[in-house]
Amino acid sequence: IDAAETDEAVSMEGKLVVISGFSGAGKGTVVRRLMEEYGDYVLSISMTTRQPRSGERNGVEYHFVTNEEFEDLVRQEGFLEHAGYVNHYYGTPRAFAEQNMNAGRDVLLEIEVQGAMQIRKRFPDAVRIFVSPRNAQELERRLVGRGTDSAETVTKRLRQALQEISSVPEYPFLVFNDEVETCASDINSLIRGDRGACQTGAGARAGADAAAF
Ligand code: 5GP
Repeated sequence: IDAAETDEAVSMEGKLVVISGFSGAGKGTVVRRLMEEYGDYVLSISMTTRQPRSGERNGVEYHFVTNEEFEDLVRQEGFLEHAGYVNHYYGTPRAFAEQNMNAGRDVLLEIEVQGAMQIRKRFPDAVRIFVSPRNAQELERRLVGRGTDSAETVTKRLRQALQEISSVPEYPFLVFNDEVETCASDINSLIRGDRGACQTGAGARAGADAAAF
């Protein structure tokens, strides 16, 4: 086997793609669009101990489990990463992600920042992207505009966002979601390695932009 063939064999493995962003700021919509428009991705369904929201189905948005079930799986090393977030556990089941990557598929993880840092350690080649509105006013406008959350919940999410901002520079890529279509296309370009094609910045720039909050 020559070097070129070896390279090819290595690249058969699918990529791990981490997408993080402020809760309630439109990241879910962007991920859905990415899946619809660029059909080659597999979305990992996380496990969580929080209660389903109305309309959420077990095995679709999340696998909803008890604390005991979650902790058992932690002991069995059944998660690629897991974290506590606002009083509940969230984790990425290991088997599903590994099987799909081994089959050459790119696997998307929609996870928060602590989990993303664990992925960075274990999978340095994972593509890590932070999706954000352009500034704090826009974030607030989206949270209020959904009309589904009380003023108290909006305040809580904004506070949470303020904490998460300090982690934004840890992500090599920041993508603004002014417009769903463009954002999904930018993310697709980043994953495909076509970095010139999108309007994103690297870590240093992400730090500067985070200052807009
Ligand atoms: P929510 O309860 O609003 O669905 O999710 C809360 C936060 O947990 C979001 O930022 C979401 O991206 C994150 N999250 C969802 N699944 C996982 C997971 O498997 N691991 C980690 N670390 N975070 C997750």
